[in-house]
Amino acid sequence: MRKPIIAGNWKMYKTAGEGALLVRELAALTKTVTDVDMVVCPPFTALAAAAGAVAGTAIGLGAQNMHWEEKGAFTGEIAPGMLKDIGCTHVIIGHSERRQYFAETDKTVNQKTKAAFKAGLTPIVCVGETLAEREANATEKVVGIQVEGGLEGLTAEQAANLVIAYEPVWAIGTGRTASAGDANAVCAFIRRTVGAMFGQTVADSLRIQYGGSVKPDNIAELMAQPDIDGALVGGASLEADSFSKLVMFS
Ligand code: PEP
Repeated sequence: MRKPIIAGNWKMYKTAGEGALLVRELAALTKTVTDVDMVVCPPFTALAAAAGAVAGTAIGLGAQNMHWEEKGAFTGEIAPGMLKDIGCTHVIIGHSERRQYFAETDKTVNQKTKAAFKAGLTPIVCVGETLAEREANATEKVVGIQVEGGLEGLTAEQAANLVIAYEPVWAIGTGRTASAGDANAVCAFIRRTVGAMFGQTVADSLRIQYGGSVKPDNIAELMAQPDIDGALVGGASLEADSFSKLVMFS
């Protein structure tokens, strides 16, 4: 049995104070939840405040990005160990907005994924096709390359413990959700791809999230799918009420 994991990607929203408040509200609304892993991913500047607010709760703390080097002359970057030090448990890697606007590639995703494990963080590795790729029937080809490139060289133990977020680019922040069946079909394909790389036991342990306009009114149908183990949520994670509903419905 895979434990569901719901993660909130706050993107470039929330000051430190707003973030701490949101976490406190969320903790109060979800204090009885034990069967779902919850993670909030604030912007870097709100991580310290959110770390204080998640202390003593079951809520995990994730960053939205990091560099792969341990230290060095990389102005403006954040090292994996710095995230661990501030209290992070997770880190989102290769979000489509980072691939699209900040030139992230499967190679950097792979470097970051390995660096995250080395620092003791759980990577949430994002993959997904654009609308043009879907319309060209290239979804499996594109997602397969992303999975193989992003996970290349991981140990089986690492692969079993990471989280993959399948996020069709055309469904992120657009209000368009993949149908539950279509989303599950790609998640099942990802699981088969991981199985071919690392074996069936790893594939069975791996948690795969769906992301793309997940809301309280579509979470139940998505979570009922056999290969969807959770959600990576943008817009609906910015309010405690909607995010807690996603957690409760999972
Ligand atoms: C995301 O940011 O990863 C995302 C899925 O956003 P939204 O839920 O707003 O589509």
